[in-house]
Amino acid sequence: MSEIKLTESAPTEDNGEEKDWAAAKAHFDNLKTKIPRPPKPRYAVTIAVSSRTLFNMVKERKVYEDEGLEKYVAYQMEHESEPLMPGVAFPFVQALMNVNSRLRQLYPDSEELFDIVLMTNNHAQVGVRLINSINHYDLTIERFCMTGGESPIGYLKAYMTNLYLSKNSDKVMEAIEEGIAAATMFAVDTDNELSKTQLRVAFDGDAVLFSDESEIIVKQHGLDTFFDHEKEFVNKPLAQGPLKCFLEALGKLQRKFIAKNERLNCPIRTFLVTARSAASCGARVLKTLRSWGLEIDEALFLAGAPKGPLLEKIKPHIFFDDQMFHIEGAQQMGTISAHVPYGIGQKYHKGKLIEQPPKKE
Ligand SMILES: [Mg+2]
Repeated sequence: MSEIKLTESAPTEDNGEEKDWAAAKAHFDNLKTKIPRPPKPRYAVTIAVSSRTLFNMVKERKVYEDEGLEKYVAYQMEHESEPLMPGVAFPFVQALMNVNSRLRQLYPDSEELFDIVLMTNNHAQVGVRLINSINHYDLTIERFCMTGGESPIGYLKAYMTNLYLSKNSDKVMEAIEEGIAAATMFAVDTDNELSKTQLRVAFDGDAVLFSDESEIIVKQHGLDTFFDHEKEFVNKPLAQGPLKCFLEALGKLQRKFIAKNERLNCPIRTFLVTARSAASCGARVLKTLRSWGLEIDEALFLAGAPKGPLLEKIKPHIFFDDQMFHIEGAQQMGTISAHVPYGIGQKYHKGKLIEQPPKKE
């Protein structure tokens, strides 16, 4: 479980594909529209969100579960002019849009932007309500994947997805196994006022940005062995975890602001929120990030203290963690959290080994 595949790097220039894109660009330029053209997946930071994370569809889902597909589609069509309520990933997506508008001001011709793809296995007729809702909130989401219940993995790869957010943990797990950064989101009641001008993203360290190799030692041999191990290997970078590539993508966009002297006014801020303690096992984490050439704006070492109260102060648009008890603690204090189902932590709850459900075929 600790081994994950590396995300495939951009394919080498393919003439056929290049010609297709050039033709698409020429066609779009001819249309004389003010709507920005979606960027090429190769340059974009692509975020795939499911319709149930972008919008709150709890009521609609209930109609589907209680009354079946036909009634559900009819309900959605009847309410098609009524915008869906924002869902758990909505503030995050809105913050991405804000970063895009800042990028477009600084680099009008660049395709290095966030691109949002809506993944849905909804019936095509429900698409009208989704489109109306997207337009109602003035979101720029031009790419839709109507997967018709099939696995989204093929589409995620085709779009070179940098992050996939869903409510379905089986699909998320499948994506992580294929080397795609992904996380499961849950509904959260929050009155937290989130920044309108800055995208704030918080990451756990072990088994999120990094592999679970150190976590395995904590779980199997205890903290003292772990401290000794981290001291011994302080100069050996940790292997990468499932969300490393997403941090890298954020860093790529951050550097575009820094290049224009906007470091202090950068609309992206990243946080490492780890249960590690700084003095006894923090150095390896910082040295690993340095060896990757990645910066994190703020690193918080909690030495086992709960993460909720600190996250309440940080107010991230999204917080990633591999351990459910950290997610639950964060959610109780109103933080929008996303679970990364990866690594040895999935086999434990609050330090105790738990029974694994049988793996689905
Ligand atoms: Mg962790």
